[in-house]
Amino acid sequence: KGLAIGIDIGGTKVAAGVVDADGRILSQAKRSTPGNDPRAVEQVIVELVEELGRGHRIWSVGIGAAGWMDLDGGTVLFSPHLAWRNEPLRENLQRLLCRPVLLTNDADAAAWAEWRFGAGQGQNRLVCITLGTGIGGAMVMDGRIERGRFGVAGEFGHQIIMPGGHRCECGNRGCWEQYASGNALGREARELAAANSPVAQELLKAVDGKVGDITGVIVTELAKAGDPTSRELIEDVGEWLGLGLANLAAALDPGKFVIGGGLCDAGELLAAPARKAFARNLTGRGFRPAADIALAALGPHAGLIGAADLSRVSSRMHT
Ligand code: BGC
Ligand code: ZN
Repeated sequence: KGLAIGIDIGGTKVAAGVVDADGRILSQAKRSTPGNDPRAVEQVIVELVEELGRGHRIWSVGIGAAGWMDLDGGTVLFSPHLAWRNEPLRENLQRLLCRPVLLTNDADAAAWAEWRFGAGQGQNRLVCITLGTGIGGAMVMDGRIERGRFGVAGEFGHQIIMPGGHRCECGNRGCWEQYASGNALGREARELAAANSPVAQELLKAVDGKVGDITGVIVTELAKAGDPTSRELIEDVGEWLGLGLANLAAALDPGKFVIGGGLCDAGELLAAPARKAFARNLTGRGFRPAADIALAALGPHAGLIGAADLSRVSSRMHT
């Protein structure tokens, strides 16, 4: 009883699971995100719900997607990494799934899970950052997700921290997520490898010399295995992360930052340089308390757990 399916739709992967009322995952499944076609993404969602729903009584379905939801949670307004433009996704899915569907931003879902069951428990001013294809951001304030006036608060990844810098999928230049995401890590590593520097030896070996195949995931694996160059690349990303967190502290003054998403797999290799850059850039340092920076306790599952939990809470409210 009380089971929900949570689905986390990111720029590259769709992760889904059956989640109980205590945030435990009972079974799970994964697909790659079909690019460029909103209908194909809906189809994947339907398949996952059918597959996971077998043998369980499912009350509701929660979708956390890498897009900007309107305040009412019915429409995806825009997504830098997915095909949705003003898409009435909740209505489409409710028709296809014949169950209550909750729609929310992927980072909001992850933040909710960390606050309920993970590294953000007990915090009344929590900021959560997810590092994957892009940077997701979310705030849980006094036990509720702060979504702003139009539903799109927390888009920290698109703060311009380098005017004239790298082009972002959102259309602007110099967004934070171009410097501190999994994609940014992959791009930096490819650039280094393309320069044919001897320090890129291990990177090139890992992809049989095919520079274009280097991804953030591969760099993270190599770094964990001890490759000094991959460690340096992650350290650079960590510094950009810490700098951005210092900016967020100036604006929001949270008690804790929780860092999640695929890239948090790098663990302390990422968190240590982030903490250092945060301390170095925090305004008023030495004269004010500083927020803690912790890695997500639910790792890459936070998004699907949070989406499921939010759907359970809201379906109870509406029935
Ligand atoms: C999007 C966010 C999303 C984040 C992580 C960003 O580019 O604008 O809505 O939460 O990526 O997927
Ligand atoms: Zn951007």
